[in-house]
Amino acid sequence: MSLLEVDGLHTRFPTPRGTVDAVNEVDLTIRSGEIVGLVGESGSGKSVLADSIAGIVEESGEIADGDVRLHDESLLAMSDAERREMRGGAISMVFQDPMNSLNPTLTVGEQIAESVRLHGHGGESTRLSAEVKRKILGAAKDSEAWRRAIEMLETVEIPEPESRAVDYPHEFSGGMRQRAMIAMALAAEPDLLIADEPTTALDVTIQAQILDELRALKDAFDTSILLITHDLSVVAEVCDRVNVMYAGEIVERAEARELFDNPQHPYTQGLIASTPRLDTPTEDLQPIEGNVPDLIDIPYACHFAPRCPEAKRECYEVPPDFRPVGRTLDDGTMPDDEWGDHVAACLRRGPEEEQL
Ligand code: SF4
Repeated sequence: MSLLEVDGLHTRFPTPRGTVDAVNEVDLTIRSGEIVGLVGESGSGKSVLADSIAGIVEESGEIADGDVRLHDESLLAMSDAERREMRGGAISMVFQDPMNSLNPTLTVGEQIAESVRLHGHGGESTRLSAEVKRKILGAAKDSEAWRRAIEMLETVEIPEPESRAVDYPHEFSGGMRQRAMIAMALAAEPDLLIADEPTTALDVTIQAQILDELRALKDAFDTSILLITHDLSVVAEVCDRVNVMYAGEIVERAEARELFDNPQHPYTQGLIASTPRLDTPTEDLQPIEGNVPDLIDIPYACHFAPRCPEAKRECYEVPPDFRPVGRTLDDGTMPDDEWGDHVAACLRRGPEEEQL
């Protein structure tokens, strides 16, 4: 059963130059206990989609259409107070730069303990000042919340968690800060963790450790994860299913192994061909020509057409619909499993009779 369902979501930003349709008619589902990847170049709308799901779209933007349902309950129909309570409870977020999310004036342990307490007390303490929070939490180092904070630091493999819990964020390395951020997010025992480029600022070894951590934590806590990244190798490492996003729209969706073995949309094929792999010499990498379009001035019909090596005149005239593109079995039928759930929005793919 789906934990999260996004239906026809449209998020736009009116600007003096025109309207930016940052997320356009996006459908997305995440089932309980799975890691779903959202991949695409910078500027493709991934983070705006994440913010729309979490209800933190910048003030200048608006959700113009569609719905976001968690446990079949519409998040868009909630009041601001209900949404605030849901964030940090049912939905937690981890961002690329933990320094922007961690409070520099509170110790790491205090912040994780606060997350534990918020989960149990409906979020009221977000209105308290750092000084008051420190007094409350500092006086409660033998509290259940503090013990849980130490446990969470141990879970994300921070060495000597009891002594590190009283350190401030600036005393942690980049990798440890990211782990602390994940510990804080998971301390609230969320149903859904949204991780937006969680490993981008880290070196490759630490990145691999954090990804291992996410996978282990998903298993331990049965938390579903939406993993947002521009890096396909990150997706290949941990995701069960993948959505590829381009210029505000999902253009391909498949089970992760199927997507890498059998990419269909020319954009996905371009992303894979331009992603460094251990078995591919760097000189064989083929970057996608051109840039992500200015979202104020998106090409009509297929947004990828100006960069697509297979584009025809019709690609500029007919908006592509989703077509089934999964591999068929030897007898020509679709497999009765996740591989059959593979679609791409391209006029030159899908059943032969429908292709351009
Ligand atoms: S619809 Fe045309 S331009 Fe768009 S991805 Fe397919 S072939 Fe390329």
